Amino acid sequence: MECEICGKEIKGRSYTILVEGSEMIVCSKCKEFGSEKPITEIKKIKLKKKVNQTQKPIEFVEELVENFSQIIRREREKRGWSQAELAKKIQEKESLIRKIENGEITPEPEVVEKLEKLFDIKLREKVPEVKLEMKKSNFTPTLGDVVVIKKKKK
Ligand SMILES: [Zn+2]
Repeated sequence: MECEICGKEIKGRSYTILVEGSEMIVCSKCKEFGSEKPITEIKKIKLKKKVNQTQKPIEFVEELVENFSQIIRREREKRGWSQAELAKKIQEKESLIRKIENGEITPEPEVVEKLEKLFDIKLREKVPEVKLEMKKSNFTPTLGDVVVIKKKKK
């Protein structure tokens, strides 16, 4: 890759800078000619462009992973905590933990967040909504699916 200012080949890191409003990829010596753009900003711009190109962007919904109750139990037992201890750590009732682990209830998003932080794991996954339509013929809706379908009808 060549520096867009001095034309020399860029050895090592290249820099994306803003020169009078336009982006340039330059070498480390020439980066002083403009202001360096933070990488996150560049990513955002690229993402935006992509969405504009597609007429219907696929919408993602966050769903609890199917076996979250087993995951919570496993993570808790790994640490040698009782249900009461876990409940105390996230300031919830022991009965709530028991019900979650037994799969009796779906925890509130706030509780899920606390568990994710505590165990440093992901209990939710992003699912594209189209996936549901493709699976329509042979699936039994779970609670999560029903919520999604209701949202879509609005
Ligand atoms: Zn240069």
